[in-house]
Amino acid sequence: MEKERTEGADPPGADREQKLQGGIVGQELPAAGKQDIERAIAELEERLPHPISSLARIAYNYRWSWTQDGADLFRDMDPSFWQRSGFNPRWLIEALPPRRLQQLAQDPSFVHRVARLASELEADAMRSPIPGEVTPDRPVAYLCSEFGGHSSLPLYGGGLGVLAGDVVKAASDLALPFIAISLFYRQGYFHQRLDSQGWQIEYWRPTEIERLPAALVTNGERRPLTVSVRIRGRIVNIQIWRIEFGRVPVFLLDTDRIDNHPIDRLITSRLYVGDRHTRLAQYAVLGCGGVRAIRAMGIEPSLIHLNEGHAALSAFERLGTLLLGGATLEEALARVRATTVFTTHTPVAAGNEWYTRDEVEPVLGDLVRELRLPDSVFYDLGRFHPGNEQEPVNLTPLALRMSRTSIGVSEKHGAVSRAMWRSLWPERELADVPIGHVTNGVHTVTWMAPAMQALLDRFLPADWRTRTSDVAMWDAIAQVPDAQLWQVRCDLRERLVREARERSITDRLNRGEPPSYVEAALRVFDPTALTVGFARRVATYKRLHLLTRHLDRALRLLADMERPIQVLIAGKAHPVDREAKETLRNMFELRHAPNVGSRTVFLEDYDLELAPCLVAGVDLWLNLPRPPQEASGTSGMKVAVNGGLNLSVMDGWWSEAYDGESGWGIASGAADPEQQDDMDATALFNLLGSEIIPLFYERNADGLPVRWLARVKTSMRRLIPRFSAERMLRGYIRTLYEKK
Ligand SMILES: *Cc1c(COP(=O)(O)O)cnc(C)c1O
Repeated sequence: MEKERTEGADPPGADREQKLQGGIVGQELPAAGKQDIERAIAELEERLPHPISSLARIAYNYRWSWTQDGADLFRDMDPSFWQRSGFNPRWLIEALPPRRLQQLAQDPSFVHRVARLASELEADAMRSPIPGEVTPDRPVAYLCSEFGGHSSLPLYGGGLGVLAGDVVKAASDLALPFIAISLFYRQGYFHQRLDSQGWQIEYWRPTEIERLPAALVTNGERRPLTVSVRIRGRIVNIQIWRIEFGRVPVFLLDTDRIDNHPIDRLITSRLYVGDRHTRLAQYAVLGCGGVRAIRAMGIEPSLIHLNEGHAALSAFERLGTLLLGGATLEEALARVRATTVFTTHTPVAAGNEWYTRDEVEPVLGDLVRELRLPDSVFYDLGRFHPGNEQEPVNLTPLALRMSRTSIGVSEKHGAVSRAMWRSLWPERELADVPIGHVTNGVHTVTWMAPAMQALLDRFLPADWRTRTSDVAMWDAIAQVPDAQLWQVRCDLRERLVREARERSITDRLNRGEPPSYVEAALRVFDPTALTVGFARRVATYKRLHLLTRHLDRALRLLADMERPIQVLIAGKAHPVDREAKETLRNMFELRHAPNVGSRTVFLEDYDLELAPCLVAGVDLWLNLPRPPQEASGTSGMKVAVNGGLNLSVMDGWWSEAYDGESGWGIASGAADPEQQDDMDATALFNLLGSEIIPLFYERNADGLPVRWLARVKTSMRRLIPRFSAERMLRGYIRTLYEKK
């Protein structure tokens, strides 16, 4: 990055920071916070009897969460504590009585499991980095406003954050030198309940970072390392937490410090707060604060990867530094551009946030002056038409203009983005608009249920987990005997049915539902029936309402006792999205209709705790976005990983995945939305009634749905490697990280 900056020209506070990080320079990078993690591990080790003391090290690196036997090991320490800990191993170890820990230390098989995981963790850290332009002393710095790496770390709202988590895990697996920067939201994203009328209630729960396997990054004097950014006329001090994901450190920025103004302490309190000014302040903390934090930690990334535009203000921070160091504006722009890459995720311009100058000025004005950026540059880079003072500004044009390479998240989304942002390059033809694509993928072993992994262990090469993008390797799926595959599918469905029953009893009791309806939850679902899932953020474009569009047909399907179908629905509506909340309520009103109470369930509070069970247990996953608004979609990929099939509108990833043999597609094309809804709902119920339900219930003499299973195998064989996070990361390396 901007190394050549002269000492005296640093923004206020920066040279102090440089002195403070004295203890770090010269060590293997990124070393910042490493000693703090080591100290925390040593402290936790003190609670553990010697034979199992390396549990502390395992607990302080989320790698356990995607390693075989990782979660099982902690669960076996005490299943009920494990659940109550929110699946946080540090909390678990701190909460368990010493007597129980002594017991475990005397169990040779447990001791052996601990030793095996510890030596795997160590061996993983010792691997040499993947050869290429990105080296350990010049890693990629990945900036994202959400981070969804694990359910115990609620710093995500939906697909964007979960993708960031999968990216980090895949970078670690590939031994790609990589760091991630995000915000530590003390209250995370909201939790969801429905009241007795079906109206969504939001509530927030504080995350106790002091209980998480995280360490505050300190300087040589063991005081928190801080950086500061001027926001709303005040200095805002930012501290940094370090969390390990395999080989990748995740650094979380946090303004909740007593030396900050009470209002500023709340900047990093909630993800996607309703207040636009606070969101702008968050973008300044992530973008400017993020770059300052990277510098203060002595890290010199080869590239800044902006995952969505929220971190785009980082470009201003870097431009400012170069200008203060004596570069001309032209040079500075060229230099920042040469080392920034960008992934855009939004397929509609309205989905990007626009701010007027009058809104930006009170929040960021001081920062602009401090960076000595010409006003015109600051505002014009975020406009469609530079120079038009009336035009509001947006982070996506800024990110597009400041990046050497930009991509969308599927082939179709790349094309949609080129059309959408074309006017930023008025001199170019549509096809030459510089936005490409790397289609999203999911971290295969994170999303594949242990039972399916155990089955594949018997048929795939022993090292299959480390080569999930190897297309030819997956041909071996063909050898899995139908009966064994079906057994795993039935086990996963049964587990989901159990979970759905337990959750719906609690949900219904909490809402004060009539006893008969609570009772119905006990009978909810048949572990052998065709199980259909629809779960994602409840945004209007995702069209949950299509399920009830032809209500008579829907109710007829639910009434079929010969070939039963059951439907699981989950998802949160954004707190200020009234339309989406109405959709939820309308759906909810149907709950007392015949069969609806026992054949459909709405599961509250869709998050990373619920998602794995849901995507593993369903036979069929529905995806009904209004094209072209689904940039990619990833949940269908998670379903494919577990042997479920997709029925999806042709949009996002499904436009390139659909092959007529692994799942089903709905073309969806009509001028007006009403007509489109009608046609797509018709197509949906036609496919269900005439193809999907009959195929699922067609059984051979052994009771196996042979033709269904053939589709499952095709889907797994073709989709798992193509839509794996490993393939995505290799795409990032080729398209974004290596110079052309
Ligand atoms: C995968 C995932 C999403 C994203 O789902 P889409 O289909 O891409 O909308 C959202 N929330 C959670 C909890 C997920 O695991």
